[in-house]
Amino acid sequence: MKFKAILVFLSVSVLLCSTCVVSAQQTQGSKYIAFRDDDVKPFTPLDTLKAVNQVHIDEGVPVTLGIIPHPREAQEGNQLLQDAQFLTYMRSIAPNPLFEFAQHGYTHKSDSLSIAPSEFAGRSYKDQYNRISKGRADLIEAFGMVPKTFIPPFDKGDNNTLLATSALGFTEYSTFSASYAPHGYVNGMRIDGGIEMGAVNETDFSKSVQRAENITQQFLNDPQSDDMLIVTYHVWAFQDSRGAVDYHRIQELTDFINLLKAQGALFTRLDREVAPASNASSLTNNLLVFTFQSASPSLSATGKENNLSTFLLIGSVGVVLSGIYLSARRRGRIDRRTK
Ligand SMILES: [Zn+2]
Repeated sequence: MKFKAILVFLSVSVLLCSTCVVSAQQTQGSKYIAFRDDDVKPFTPLDTLKAVNQVHIDEGVPVTLGIIPHPREAQEGNQLLQDAQFLTYMRSIAPNPLFEFAQHGYTHKSDSLSIAPSEFAGRSYKDQYNRISKGRADLIEAFGMVPKTFIPPFDKGDNNTLLATSALGFTEYSTFSASYAPHGYVNGMRIDGGIEMGAVNETDFSKSVQRAENITQQFLNDPQSDDMLIVTYHVWAFQDSRGAVDYHRIQELTDFINLLKAQGALFTRLDREVAPASNASSLTNNLLVFTFQSASPSLSATGKENNLSTFLLIGSVGVVLSGIYLSARRRGRIDRRTK
């Protein structure tokens, strides 16, 4: 009897171990596509936003919504509360784990202080911190959630933008790159590049989808590529010349998502948050929401590695106007202007 029990124990152990190895291998090589929808804001018609979001709901694929908290510069108060239709709709989708609410600047108006267009680059640290902090507070008040992802308008910021957002507790900073650049860290905040898809002109729109298909395929097949590629689009790019929903473009997004699924891509939100258990039933098998182990490193522990990644990122993203400029260069420009 005792021998049998030991045999059963050993068999179960071997089985468990092999399962561990398999799941570890699967996790290690996983490649994630994260969709980012910019320029979601109050005081604009909701038809297109609803139509694009419906694709994500139907396909079970998450999307991070880049929300502009204060689009009307001269108007006081929390503008996210001032458009009743917008507020009701956004609150209705907020509990759905497919949607991440991210902060996309504050007013999204270019200040043109150093590099243009940019809302933040060239402003002092304190000024940037205060503006971003106001928008963050508006999002918390309107939707009862703390945004984890910051998206600088026009994909452009400077060192102060990075320092202010990391100090405010953002864990993800999303900018632009021509293809798939490796991510970096600043003060524990992860910085990702990403590609853009969409255009005003219909032919250009289709070409941009084709280009996104090519780059995502390269990303998925490249053993050296990073663990996540962000594909950004703008909600207004899915409208025709009269401002109505262009269902042909909506279909192109659906086809692109299905192509990615066929290629074995996994999908996540930019914040890679674990979905609340109560909402887990609404997720499909295509959505693997997870937290990276490397998502919350401290600079003190892995400073060298982080600095290197940041350097690599700045090098590659900088070439394509990421807006991460050396502070010395920036200071020089400001000095020249004040003279
Ligand atoms: Zn924008």
